[in-house]
Amino acid sequence: MSLAAVSTRTIAQKCSHATADDLRELEWALHSGLTGTSQIVDEYEAALAALYGVRHVIAVSSGAASVTAALAGVDFRPGDEVIVAPTGPICTVLPILSLGLVPVFCDVAPDSFGLDPVDLRRCISDRTCAVIEVPMWGYPIRSDATWAYLREAGIPLIQDLAHAHMTRLNGTWLAHHGEISCFSTHDCKFISTGEGGFVMTDDDERAARIRAYTRFGNLTGETLGINLKLGGLQAALGLARSRQLGANLQHRQRNRERLLGMLDNPAFREMPVVVGGEVNAYSLLLQAVGHDGRELVHYQQRHGIESDIGKYDNQPLYQLPLLTRYQRDCPNAARLLRSLTTVPLHPDLVDDDLHYIAKVLNDYSPA
Ligand SMILES: *Cc1c(COP(=O)(O)O)cnc(C)c1O
Repeated sequence: MSLAAVSTRTIAQKCSHATADDLRELEWALHSGLTGTSQIVDEYEAALAALYGVRHVIAVSSGAASVTAALAGVDFRPGDEVIVAPTGPICTVLPILSLGLVPVFCDVAPDSFGLDPVDLRRCISDRTCAVIEVPMWGYPIRSDATWAYLREAGIPLIQDLAHAHMTRLNGTWLAHHGEISCFSTHDCKFISTGEGGFVMTDDDERAARIRAYTRFGNLTGETLGINLKLGGLQAALGLARSRQLGANLQHRQRNRERLLGMLDNPAFREMPVVVGGEVNAYSLLLQAVGHDGRELVHYQQRHGIESDIGKYDNQPLYQLPLLTRYQRDCPNAARLLRSLTTVPLHPDLVDDDLHYIAKVLNDYSPA
């Protein structure tokens, strides 16, 4: 097989989310209100709260805003520490820095994006104000175990579920396994409002603080806040598209099963799914066996199949210039990232695309 093969098509990471329902809700928003405090935003929040079975949803202007707002829901002083894995995107860590907090990189458990319990113990100090788990590409992690441990220690667990809409653990949404969950609805995520995000919690007090923070501290001048509200037009899209979440999930899961059924190349395997977990099929995570996964990333990219992890260069976050001063050796994280590639599974893929992806991947042989 020629390594110089030119791709015959492009399999994009991102899909179009447009539906007929979108226009109806957008038109309603145009009439009923465009601000972040209009009725359509309340409706969107209520729809998500009902879908996920949580008490509070606060819609915000981005995924990064959702991480910022979540942190505003916990007690901290400047210089306090937030524990986070170096396998997530920099988008999770920049809000930590912007609040004057210090990221502490904790290693992940082998072959997982979840924090390693032993290293987590080492990372905790009397300055720890929160832990953020980031399950990447929709693969569940053992948040239940992390949360049980952190509750004992009196430290809140925030989950950045930007990739993990509708991911399940032990028969319930992953979002139910932590105090506060953050989501992004950026155009390349599981559900799109163009730009946007939301925060979710069952805790009344934290919800009130988070909401106030996103609305200038409710303009009372008593507590700090900025404007992180989601606009009415984005909320209208979110409302229409929240109704598609179940169908979207099923379609993606079907694509994953079909693709896995066609793959028969021993050079890679799917990343293991934790016991009791169910993926949302945001992407398929393949793990190279016995060689560097970056080779697989480059190979599929040459064949026009986008790999989301290619954007991160398969490197732990502390390799980035802004974050080298926070470097802490995380060997499992480095090994995991080097072993992986991601393959799109979104609902725009047709039969022909799935066959093409399977053929390209089955033809792969590492150097
Ligand atoms: C995309 C993403 C973000 C940032 O979301 P935006 O909506 O782009 O601000 C944060 N965390 C994770 C894990 C993400 O994937």
